[in-house]
Amino acid sequence: VRMSRSSALREYHQKRNFTRTKEPRGVLKRRTGDLFVVQKHAARRLHYDFRLELDGVLKSWAVTRGPSLSPADKRLAVRTEDHPLDYAVFEGKIPEGEYGAGSVIVWDRGRWSTEGDPHQQLAKGHLEFELDGTKLKGRWHLVHMRGRDKGGKENWLLIKVDDEYATADGGTGLLEDEPRSVKTGRTVEDVAGSEVRIRRKPGAPSAAKRAERKSPAKPTAAQPRAEISVKGAK
Ligand code: MN
Repeated sequence: VRMSRSSALREYHQKRNFTRTKEPRGVLKRRTGDLFVVQKHAARRLHYDFRLELDGVLKSWAVTRGPSLSPADKRLAVRTEDHPLDYAVFEGKIPEGEYGAGSVIVWDRGRWSTEGDPHQQLAKGHLEFELDGTKLKGRWHLVHMRGRDKGGKENWLLIKVDDEYATADGGTGLLEDEPRSVKTGRTVEDVAGSEVRIRRKPGAPSAAKRAERKSPAKPTAAQPRAEISVKGAK
């Protein structure tokens, strides 16, 4: 079953006001690629958007607790609307009041592959694939829990296969140890702060300064604050 060029991204376009959000409008691309991306999205509820390129769009799932390297962790992955390929490089702040309001970073990206037919697997509700990303590697499963769908949403599980990239205690370690964008080195907090700062009136204190006043001394171990504000500047 092939979607027409206009309908594949209809839901994506309907949900967004492109005069307000800087997310890409995007079009359906005629290409057979194998891109995967995981975007950390600090929306009202923090989640990780897991996306696999197929048929010129990004098939997407929202993983509330984020991916885990432990095969024992079965992470709920709620299927979301197909996104345009251009979305794979999107980092930024979606304004208050808009769909998905909050900050987005490219938490991981790379290539994905499968030995089977991905269309059949998707239709069957069981994708088996390998990831070659910066943070995520090795074999994974995405399994549709039919009968557990709620409110028109498909509930899937993202599960790490027990291979050389699996770890027994993969729980939250990866997410906490490697919170930064593989594209820009920023955190979702950096993105939130930097874009507020760009819009400030001349002479007004920066978002970083205001944040410091509110909650002083919140240095990150990996990077001094001064470097963060350099990275935040455009
Ligand atoms: Mn999201």
